[in-house]
Amino acid sequence: MSEPSIFTRILRGDIPGEIVAETERVFAIKDISPQAPVHLLVIPKTQEYRDVTELAAGDPSLLAEMVEVAKGVAGGDFRLLFNTGASAGQTVFHVHAHVLAGGLGEKSLVGA
Ligand code: AMP
Repeated sequence: MSEPSIFTRILRGDIPGEIVAETERVFAIKDISPQAPVHLLVIPKTQEYRDVTELAAGDPSLLAEMVEVAKGVAGGDFRLLFNTGASAGQTVFHVHAHVLAGGLGEKSLVGA
């Protein structure tokens, strides 16, 4: 068994975290270092998938459930981001989607 990730530890209540939504297989928390007025993380309860490519290959329905939860917590239009790999900024290797919303404007992320 791998060490519990920081997100697993939040889910278990071992460390503090604000869980804002939960389904049988997915939960959402507030990011501790928000980069937008709304910045949430949507996370599968299993930590077996390191990144979105592994998740898409291994359990596409779980990925779809994450998108559904993201839509629910965003409360309107939103940006969904998966950092994939350390050199792309991924720091936690328990797949998670960043949900960014609120005051993003209409500018595309590319070049933003
Ligand atoms: P990434 O860099 O894509 O792997 O995203 C990891 C995210 O987890 C970052 O945006 C961090 O701010 C966030 N994060 C790290 N520790 C915590 C924590 N204890 N509670 C909430 N968010 C966290």
